[in-house]
Amino acid sequence: MIKTFDVAVVGGGIVGLAHAYAAAKAGLTVALFECQARATGASIRNFGFVTVTGQQRGAFHQLAQRSRDIWQDVAGPAGIAIEHRGLYVAARYPESEAVLHAFLATEMGEGCEILRPQDAPFLADGQRAVLHSPHDLRVESRTAIPLLSQYLSALGVERFYSTAVTGVEQGRLTISRGTFRAERIIVCPGDDLSGLFADRIRAHNVSRCQLQMLRLDDPGIRLPGAVMSDLSLIRYLGYSDLPEARALTDRLRDSHAEHIAHGVHLIVVQSADGSIVVGDSHHYDDAPEPFASTAVDDLILDEYRAVLGTPPSILERWTGTYAVAPDRLYLIDAPLPDVRLCVVTCGAGASTAFAIAEQTFKSF
Ligand SMILES: Cc1cc2nc3c(=O)[nH]c(=O)nc-3n(C[C@H](O)[C@H](O)[C@H](O)COP(=O)(O)OP(=O)(O)OC[C@H]3O[C@@H](n4cnc5c(N)ncnc54)[C@H](O)[C@@H]3O)c2cc1C
Repeated sequence: MIKTFDVAVVGGGIVGLAHAYAAAKAGLTVALFECQARATGASIRNFGFVTVTGQQRGAFHQLAQRSRDIWQDVAGPAGIAIEHRGLYVAARYPESEAVLHAFLATEMGEGCEILRPQDAPFLADGQRAVLHSPHDLRVESRTAIPLLSQYLSALGVERFYSTAVTGVEQGRLTISRGTFRAERIIVCPGDDLSGLFADRIRAHNVSRCQLQMLRLDDPGIRLPGAVMSDLSLIRYLGYSDLPEARALTDRLRDSHAEHIAHGVHLIVVQSADGSIVVGDSHHYDDAPEPFASTAVDDLILDEYRAVLGTPPSILERWTGTYAVAPDRLYLIDAPLPDVRLCVVTCGAGASTAFAIAEQTFKSF
């Protein structure tokens, strides 16, 4: 007999898990399909940095706030530790300091403050000012994603790993060993541009972005939160859309041309064992190079040195990719009446997926 669910979700990354969670919380019967034996895509390769501060002003910023709240609700019952809370954005140029003050004056700066460098003694000398935000948090994605998946199972979600969905029609999914029925189907394929609904994804000009990441040894200090720097202020739209960011962009184009050419900026987060995850770079290509460049790692470490001092030894290096689109931060498409395609098309899926899932359910 063909098994029937209220909702079927394709994709076991954070976007798929967030949709399965929303459906399970609504009391619906849910099936989750993931083609790998465990999720190994962007969702476990990221910083686990649930970023509110600096997200695009308006609706997207609100989605991040809402998702952060859901992460807080889910973390305890799912056994996921919040590794640290809050963000410190270090500014070492006058133009960066001007952006921090402009940000603080907006509604996005509510609850934030600008610290003197001596109030952030974990930072290297040479900083002019530091924005502190209490709004962000960090989870260890490589353990948080499996824990969230297990929690969904406890909520009654039926999980099918090592199960590629090869076809989706209205009310029906095809896998290699048969067929399932579901009243509503949500496809969350991450940056797979050649699988389900590839034509729909192409029609939104979705491409891919590749990032290089590093894990460093314990530096011997506990960071009180995530750390970012001047270069982040021209990447994150909540800052870079402010008029004050123009002068900073001009300045950094002169002083940091190579960093900017490789899309390098700084995010630093710390894990329970004291090790540090540092990144990142951004290279845009439908078929990204699988080869990580030492020169790009050196640019990331160069920025680390300017903000936190001599980097400890490198424990791990990896790359990751996520979907990008020129004109949107996420898409919810309706290829069929009761089928939705949901792709986060920027580097903020961990920060927004839970709230985007709520939007998807409203769209049916
Ligand atoms: C290095 C890096 C750092 C990042 N840092 C952050 C950060 O700190 N904060 C933040 O908010 N965001 C961050 N991001 C972005 C964030 O990780 C992504 O936006 C998010 O993980 C995308 O989730 P996803 O579920 O769409 O994709 P994925 O995690 O790639 O999951 C998609 C899943 O779908 C499965 N799948 C696809 N097709 C099928 C099919 N037909 N059948 C079955 N399964 C299928 C795949 O196997 C895959 O497991 C980062 C991304 C990277 C790469």
